[in-house]
Amino acid sequence: MSAPSPVPMTPSPWLNARIPSGPIERKWDKAKEDFKLVNPANKRKFEVIVVGTGLAGAAAAASLAELGYNVKTFCFQDSPRRAHSIAAQGGINAAKNYQNDGDSVWRLFYDTIKGGDFRSREANVYRLAQLSVNIIDQCVAQGVPFAREYGGLLANRSFGGAQVSRTFYARGQTGQQLLLGAYQALERQIGLGKIKMFSRTEMLDLVVVDGVAKGIVTRDLVTGEIASHAADAVVLATGGYSNVFYLSTNARGCNVTAIYRAYRKGAAFANPCFTQIHPTCIPVSGEHQSKLTLMSESLRNDGRVWVPRQKGDKRAPSQIPEGDRDYYLERKYPSYGNLAPRDIASRAAKEVCDEGRGVGPGGLGVYLDFSDAIKRLGEATIKERYGNLFDMYFTITGEDAYHTPMRIYPALHYTMGGLWVDYNLMSTIPGLFVLGEANFSDHGANRLGASALMQGLADGYFIAPYTIGNYFASTKPSRPPTSHPEFKKAEEAARDQIQRLLSIRGKRTIVSFHRELGKIMWENCGMERTEASLKKALQLIPELRSQFWLEAIVTGSGQELNQTLEHAGRVADFMEFGELLCLDALTRRESCGGHFRAEFQTPDGEALRDDENFSFVSAWEYKGQGTAPVLHKEPLVYESIKMSQRSYK
Ligand SMILES: Cc1cc2nc3c(=O)[nH]c(=O)nc-3n(C[C@H](O)[C@H](O)[C@H](O)COP(=O)(O)OP(=O)(O)OC[C@H]3O[C@@H](n4cnc5c(N)ncnc54)[C@H](O)[C@@H]3O)c2cc1C
Repeated sequence: MSAPSPVPMTPSPWLNARIPSGPIERKWDKAKEDFKLVNPANKRKFEVIVVGTGLAGAAAAASLAELGYNVKTFCFQDSPRRAHSIAAQGGINAAKNYQNDGDSVWRLFYDTIKGGDFRSREANVYRLAQLSVNIIDQCVAQGVPFAREYGGLLANRSFGGAQVSRTFYARGQTGQQLLLGAYQALERQIGLGKIKMFSRTEMLDLVVVDGVAKGIVTRDLVTGEIASHAADAVVLATGGYSNVFYLSTNARGCNVTAIYRAYRKGAAFANPCFTQIHPTCIPVSGEHQSKLTLMSESLRNDGRVWVPRQKGDKRAPSQIPEGDRDYYLERKYPSYGNLAPRDIASRAAKEVCDEGRGVGPGGLGVYLDFSDAIKRLGEATIKERYGNLFDMYFTITGEDAYHTPMRIYPALHYTMGGLWVDYNLMSTIPGLFVLGEANFSDHGANRLGASALMQGLADGYFIAPYTIGNYFASTKPSRPPTSHPEFKKAEEAARDQIQRLLSIRGKRTIVSFHRELGKIMWENCGMERTEASLKKALQLIPELRSQFWLEAIVTGSGQELNQTLEHAGRVADFMEFGELLCLDALTRRESCGGHFRAEFQTPDGEALRDDENFSFVSAWEYKGQGTAPVLHKEPLVYESIKMSQRSYK
């Protein structure tokens, strides 16, 4: 696929963002005042499907059921509480200003827009900052055990891209504790019969009837049974697609299947090339690895990042005196220091490693050193703050980070792109709502740390319950029977795809294909992209895809628990989606946030945006197998803030 010729920046009529009019502070209130309501007695007539039980999905399902709607919820894990959100470590942002250090809704809004390099929709981000304070209240009421200060108020720490402390946390297990809160709310509704939970069930297709989302087709991962489910609205909260790079900090099951198949049914895919590389992960140790491990950004509150000043200095870290160390983040970004945003900190690490100053095997690592913090605060305090992360680091590397610096390196972590949604979180397919990491809505070209949990919970607890209600109030309950031809067609397509995978009968494992795809993506569309590397990837991916369909081997059958088959279906989608991601990266001829095109940089190596030509959301329309997708543009209009060149110096 070659890059389409430049399209003028005219708003696509396909993309109506439905942003309420009026001052930014009033937009969400105005929307809620204008929304139509469903009479309580009528709510039970509507059915909603929620795919995903992470923070976004569990929060939405529980809230919708609490309102009186009937909900069916799906996840591929054996329990809803195993959703990937459970892995989140460092914390969740909220503009509570408990610290009196100058925080406000406005500042959280501004930091998030700036952190995203002015590529997110202003109105959505302002609402996110407003709702952040409600989230904390809701979670505290659920009993989430946030860390507290001596006076009893909730404690905060700092995350990248902010000069205030606004990150609420529960040690290094914030996601787990928040998910337990949402999961309990979900279980309560399961107990009350308002939610029917389908674990170990994978959505394989979206069913669209007369242009409206009306259900899904699923596969029971234990028996292999293909089934249809009809509803008045479908919510996808299926997480991010970092695993298109094979090695990432995401759980191995994370995939693009649900949103990619919805894209094939007519949902626009927005900004697929906006991917986030996290600066503090345990470095890759060899070809055998199947995933990478994050060391939370919270560690940069107390850890100092450095490399030797001299190239090729092989001395042990303890033997390198202060004068021979380069604390490069503190040197280059004195205002934010070790808490520079992720995209900037990642590129800075790559730069020093490219100069030959990296540490550890292969020179692909930098130190994250706690010795100063331990001297200042004592080992016990550091243990109390980050004990589980130090334990995890020890288990994986065999090194004791209380006494020797951690070695870290950037890795794929989060995807800002996702299905395009309007202000109401509805996709281009009426009746299809998309929440959490699966949508593109709030983080622009770079997400700030601790903002994903905030967004997932804002979407699930506080936005979707209103906007889906408004959608229902404007429609009549109408669920087609699952015998409708569209359901039958989607079931047939799902069965055919499974049969096709099982009948390849080649010799090469699915994992080896996935690993090779990941390598192509990382080397050509990773931390740095160029026109040449992207064109190369766009040539290599279709070649690999053809080989996949000729040479892969999927053992077992479709009528049993078959994890190779599950993986094969997901890799088949990654093989197509990877191409879309690279095409988007090729088309965006500027650098912004995590999308760093080496051709477009400032003299000191920072991302160089082109606001005149690229301040838009790219939204891709599927046009069929083998046909180039069409690029639509939603121009980004900033009414409340002025765009500027980002600086953290
Ligand atoms: C290691 C790590 C640490 C992190 N730490 C932080 C942090 O400290 N703070 C922060 O803000 N963010 C953090 N993040 C990011 C954050 O955890 C995620 O962005 C967020 O949890 C995503 O939530 P979600 O509800 O959108 O999706 P997920 O939690 O990924 O849930 C996806 C759900 O969809 C289901 N699903 C997916 N596909 C299908 C399908 N086809 N059929 C059926 N079900 C399906 C899954 O079963 C699952 O239930 C971290 C991420 C990682 C990887």
